[in-house]
Amino acid sequence: MERPKVAIFDFDDTLADSFQAPKPEMIERLARLMKLLPVAIMTGAGFERVQRDILAMLPAITSNLYIFPNSATQCYLYVDGTWKLEYNHALTLDERERIKAVLHEYLEQSTIMTDAPHFGERVIDREAQIAFTIVGVDAPQDVKKNWDVDGSKRRALLEMLRAKLGEFEILTGGLSTIDITHKDTNKAYGVRWLAEKLRIPPEEMFYVGDALYAGGNDQVVVPTGIKTKQVSGPSETAVVIDELLATLSA
Ligand SMILES: [Mg+2]
Repeated sequence: MERPKVAIFDFDDTLADSFQAPKPEMIERLARLMKLLPVAIMTGAGFERVQRDILAMLPAITSNLYIFPNSATQCYLYVDGTWKLEYNHALTLDERERIKAVLHEYLEQSTIMTDAPHFGERVIDREAQIAFTIVGVDAPQDVKKNWDVDGSKRRALLEMLRAKLGEFEILTGGLSTIDITHKDTNKAYGVRWLAEKLRIPPEEMFYVGDALYAGGNDQVVVPTGIKTKQVSGPSETAVVIDELLATLSA
């Protein structure tokens, strides 16, 4: 493995199973990595979840950690001992209402949606982003894994949503989530923003995510030139971090 100057991680299905907290061993790995290079978390999750499941669990927080919640439509920096919202490209109220109206229409009329098992909330308004969790936020992991094994339902939904909401960025997140944001703000924007902030070109940065496939919410980072590593889930991410720690400590 080459020696990157920055490490960026997706959260759901990368640092943890989707909508779960990372295991203590993963938190420990992140803490060790943060001592060696700048680390960023770029996720579809909101800041509150990152704070509860990751930041609150870390033994110490330093300005070496960068948080890009809601698909990098927001950025938080750790300044003088507190988290500061550095930028916020939230959707307007009108935009959010329009997106939600289309999603609710599909929930009632599309057979993909009416046939899908679902548990809990399915449309989540996080201001910067509308997250569409097809099987619901409370769905058990096996339901998330099995409702659309070949990805064909997600692809069909993406196509339908893009036809109706073409002015927005619409990408699949975890196994059962579609994220809707402004078109010009996504994880690629986050990578470029961080590259400029740190004065390190994307080519010398390293991105680890589970959705680097076509249409996945991690794939958008590829054109920035950043080195990427596709993982199948947290256990593979742990191996990647161990390799990274070994390389950086060598
Ligand atoms: Mg993911």
